[in-house]
Amino acid sequence: KIAYNKYDVEAAATWKAGEPVPYLFLARVFGRIEAEPKRLLITELMANAFRTVIATSPDDLLPLMSLATNKLAPAYEGIELGIGDSIMIKAVSETCGRSVAAIKADMEEVGDLGEVAMASRTKQVTLSKPKPLQVRGVYKTLKEIALTSGHEAMKRKGDKIKQMLVAAQEKEAQYIVRSLQGKMRIGLAEQTALVSLAHAFVLTASPGRDAPAALRGEALQERLIEAEAIVKQVYSEMPNYELIIKALLAHGIDELPQHARLTAGVPVKPMLAKPTKGLSEVLDRFSNCAFTCEYKYDGERAQIHLLEGGMVKVYSRNSEDNTTKYPDIAALMPRAIKSHVTSIILDSEAVAVDTKTGAILPFQVLSTRKRKDASVDDIGVKVCVFAFDLLYLNGESYLQRPLAERRAALHASLQVLPRELEFAQASDAADVDAIQEFLLESIKGNCEGLMIKTLAENATYEPSRRSLNWLKVKKDYLAGMTDSCDLVPIGAYYGKGKRTGVYGAYLLACYNPDDETYESVCKIGTGFNDEALQTLHKGLSERIIQQKRAYYKTPNWADSSQPDVWFEPCQVWEVLAADLSISPVHMAAAGLVDPAKGIALRFPRFLRVRDDKGVEDATSAEQIAEMYNNQACTKTSSTLEGGDD
Ligand code: ATP
Repeated sequence: KIAYNKYDVEAAATWKAGEPVPYLFLARVFGRIEAEPKRLLITELMANAFRTVIATSPDDLLPLMSLATNKLAPAYEGIELGIGDSIMIKAVSETCGRSVAAIKADMEEVGDLGEVAMASRTKQVTLSKPKPLQVRGVYKTLKEIALTSGHEAMKRKGDKIKQMLVAAQEKEAQYIVRSLQGKMRIGLAEQTALVSLAHAFVLTASPGRDAPAALRGEALQERLIEAEAIVKQVYSEMPNYELIIKALLAHGIDELPQHARLTAGVPVKPMLAKPTKGLSEVLDRFSNCAFTCEYKYDGERAQIHLLEGGMVKVYSRNSEDNTTKYPDIAALMPRAIKSHVTSIILDSEAVAVDTKTGAILPFQVLSTRKRKDASVDDIGVKVCVFAFDLLYLNGESYLQRPLAERRAALHASLQVLPRELEFAQASDAADVDAIQEFLLESIKGNCEGLMIKTLAENATYEPSRRSLNWLKVKKDYLAGMTDSCDLVPIGAYYGKGKRTGVYGAYLLACYNPDDETYESVCKIGTGFNDEALQTLHKGLSERIIQQKRAYYKTPNWADSSQPDVWFEPCQVWEVLAADLSISPVHMAAAGLVDPAKGIALRFPRFLRVRDDKGVEDATSAEQIAEMYNNQACTKTSSTLEGGDD
């Protein structure tokens, strides 16, 4: 339980009400959070910081939230930081009057450029004292840096970085560098920040609003939990801090859902599915409820929004704006909607199709399509949209309605345009043989298997949830692992023989959101063709870091198992393996299945780069543990020992 009562909201402010919040206030909060291992106390620290800002300078609440979560803007606006080490090392060296070599040498030792920047700052003597940094000023400058492009962009970015570093005090330089690198690494997950925000509004009124009821004990805990649920739900439907914070300040928690609602033009976090071992598991789970099976198409998720006024937007699985990649989808929507539709949000899969035969083509073909600024006239790879859900229609959210109703509305709102926009093939048959037949048909039709979804009970659309109400049965389950993994390459080994000049193998990691670490899960050297070896080598060579990051959990190899180079986390690869085993070496999910040992993928094979996933969307440590536990072989013999690579 959290004890908020000891904190004096007003006394914590070192500034006058209405004045800009000093960045030092936030840097000190970050420092305390970073030193705090307990999640509840982290929540409390962040909530208290929010409370002080709400009560004194609410205009700084958005900058504060954005800096704490390192989200300068919603994903769909495409404003992201992630400045390379080299610009930053140069900026640190120039602000502190130390050589690049000295900074690099410190980096080797400390492993964190933020800390090096901070230590270097304290050695520096400045003649005139620059003005202290402000939360809103740092937020604005970081945004400007992210948006800087064109002539001498590097130099202009470097100048802005230097301006901030010169003015930095205490730990400010460290956190500015981490923001610039694109990740705070203080152990504050985005979900925790949302919980803190909810708590802050339960406890503190924004200026001009009545003070919230003074609750204590159980009543307070219940209220906090209720508020968390409201804020998390609203965020999954409307992942935009600016709109949420504006609504919270003006209307408070209870009215938030009415004022920050699902809207066409703001992507919803997509609902995700649980993998299964096969049809028998599906039938066990869904034995008492109505369900439907749909083809699982192998393309790219496309959340299509038609806004009032006719504008069309297409968003990726990651809520990024993919509209300029799919101008053909934007063009077909006005023809597909029926006359009563004024606005709509569809969930669908965009799949490559053969222009002559109309056959569905594998994902590899789709991946050759231009990623941005494509023009309708010179599209090489044609896609067909397979719509499987409807989330919003004519200004109204459909998320809380059961799938049967959403699907009926979907079918009533669109007309099929053959091989341009179709509805996902579905069968509501509950009979095992019929489902088996449908699965085989889907595979013959170049699909990946089936998605099986509840229809009536427990059948709402659950944004951002990996829900048990959507199960996937992939054809791969017939051959070993039930599902592929999405992993992050964190290191590589120089190639030999035929692979001289490129990397011969890579070290892969899963992501652990609990402590924001990357945990090694296997070494991989198979599945790459020559072209992939070249492209991956070229792309990743630009992301080499001097030293293994402090948040990589890998063994302390003393021999050639140690990668020759380390990378910053920047790509996600889809990988299939024969199975998973308890590993004497790797660190993935250590403590979840075996008290000390981790889990490794055995005989992993590279399938493809997942451009539609960010590194934090990689398979999590918990999912790895779940996959391990779900393996048929684990179920029969719980003590599997084995090689890991
Ligand atoms: P996840 O999205 O679950 O993290 P993933 O990205 O690797 O995993 P899959 O395991 O392939 O994706 O399964 C889910 C994806 O399948 C969806 O994100 C969607 O893009 C795609 N898909 C294809 N057909 C359907 C369908 N009929 N219903 C829902 N999703 C579908």
